[in-house]
Amino acid sequence: MACYPSRSVKRYIVQTFGCQMNVHDSRRIEEVLREDGYEPTEDAMLADVVVVNTCSVREKAEHKLMSLLGTLRPLKDARPGVAIAVAGCVAQQEGERLLRRAPVVDLVIGPDNIPELPDLLREHEAGAPPRARTVFDDDAPRFLMARPRGEVMGFVTVMKGCDERCTFCIVPTTRGAERYRSEAEIVGEVARMAEGGVREITLLGQTVNSWYDPTELAQKPRSRVAPSGSRFAALLRRIADEVPSLARLRYTSPHPRHLTEELIAAHAELPVLPRHVHLPVQSGSDRTLRRMARRYTRAEYLERTGQLVRAVPGLTLSTDFIVGFPGETDEDFEETLSLAREAGFVSAFCFKYSPRPHTPALALGDDVPEAVKDERLQRLFDVIAGQQRAHLAGLVGATTQVLVEGPNDASETRWTGRSERHEIVHLEAPAGVDPTGTLVDVVIERAFDHSLLGTMRGASIPERPQPRPKRRKLKVLEVSA
Ligand code: SF4
Repeated sequence: MACYPSRSVKRYIVQTFGCQMNVHDSRRIEEVLREDGYEPTEDAMLADVVVVNTCSVREKAEHKLMSLLGTLRPLKDARPGVAIAVAGCVAQQEGERLLRRAPVVDLVIGPDNIPELPDLLREHEAGAPPRARTVFDDDAPRFLMARPRGEVMGFVTVMKGCDERCTFCIVPTTRGAERYRSEAEIVGEVARMAEGGVREITLLGQTVNSWYDPTELAQKPRSRVAPSGSRFAALLRRIADEVPSLARLRYTSPHPRHLTEELIAAHAELPVLPRHVHLPVQSGSDRTLRRMARRYTRAEYLERTGQLVRAVPGLTLSTDFIVGFPGETDEDFEETLSLAREAGFVSAFCFKYSPRPHTPALALGDDVPEAVKDERLQRLFDVIAGQQRAHLAGLVGATTQVLVEGPNDASETRWTGRSERHEIVHLEAPAGVDPTGTLVDVVIERAFDHSLLGTMRGASIPERPQPRPKRRKLKVLEVSA
């Protein structure tokens, strides 16, 4: 018979599927639990609460969730008091249905209901039946803060939800309508994180550059407020002005139609913005883009990214692609390949179309055979991989500035960080030097398929702001764009 230690401290474990927003939400889940007295554990058998933070952007992620829930059955049988909670997009999409589909689940909690988790757990402990709580906070949006815990990189949510309604995407259903965070709150959180030692901040939002200041929107009609991409550019400028200690400021994911001239000018003028932009395109065919309701053409995408690259010499682009969208012909796919070459992407998240519930594309059928999708995906991967290899090989011998994220397991003098173009760089530092959290110059000596190796030549910002505790990583089961 299994024997478990009696303890007064309650423990949690969070498993994360999905995108960067989900990773960030998992941090917020951890924080509300910690504030309620819970402590983390790495061992599910010692946990009093297991939270699975889910993704429903692709069908595969949902299948992984169901199989993970199956593996939790022995835990539930051994310790019936343990609470199993499902959070995130599948929770929002399925609600009560998930309780019926997976009887092992005690709580289903939507992304906007995370602050209610401790109370729901208390009710569960007191014997309440399984419960689903998936209500959007449309009237009074809440943006929980992420407290720095010694990381070099941090995330700040600026908006949530999406009004774009691309026909393949379930996000408008699982994350609701766009809700924005006030400029003062965003700048305040970025400043606090920088004071806490965070060197690089990524601003997060489903369509991050469609951000508006809600305070401004409350005072005048949207038609009299500057377009969203321009308003977002002004936000970047204010952060750069008010938080000068920040080494880098990134954002994800922008929508191409909000890449305005003001935003391009901000990239040209603000050194804090790295020379890399991830701008999802999804397809290179105008016919497919129209059917996806992306609201830009191939020519517009190429024109805007061309302006960006001309404004910021050396800037690299990455993107997201979907292959095998309903009705995609060989000619449409060839357009995608040619756009990938023309834009010169150095990396991309490429996925096969997968029909999602509640999406308009369901009505178009799923008529591209799986084998054709596989073949197209492979051809696209090959183009992107070739461009990535050529790009990385071209950097050998160059000196690049790297923000060091932490030690590398390979040796005591090896560290890992990211260049300003977002390449992964492994570097050798002098023995006894801990460059974590500093911007260092690295001479690149070798290029691999997905990363670079070099030697540290000097620190651009030599002193570390403060000693850092060892970082603990969230368990991420799958990261998809
Ligand atoms: S803009 Fe992005 S999040 Fe919004 S509907 Fe389109 S793909 Fe989904």
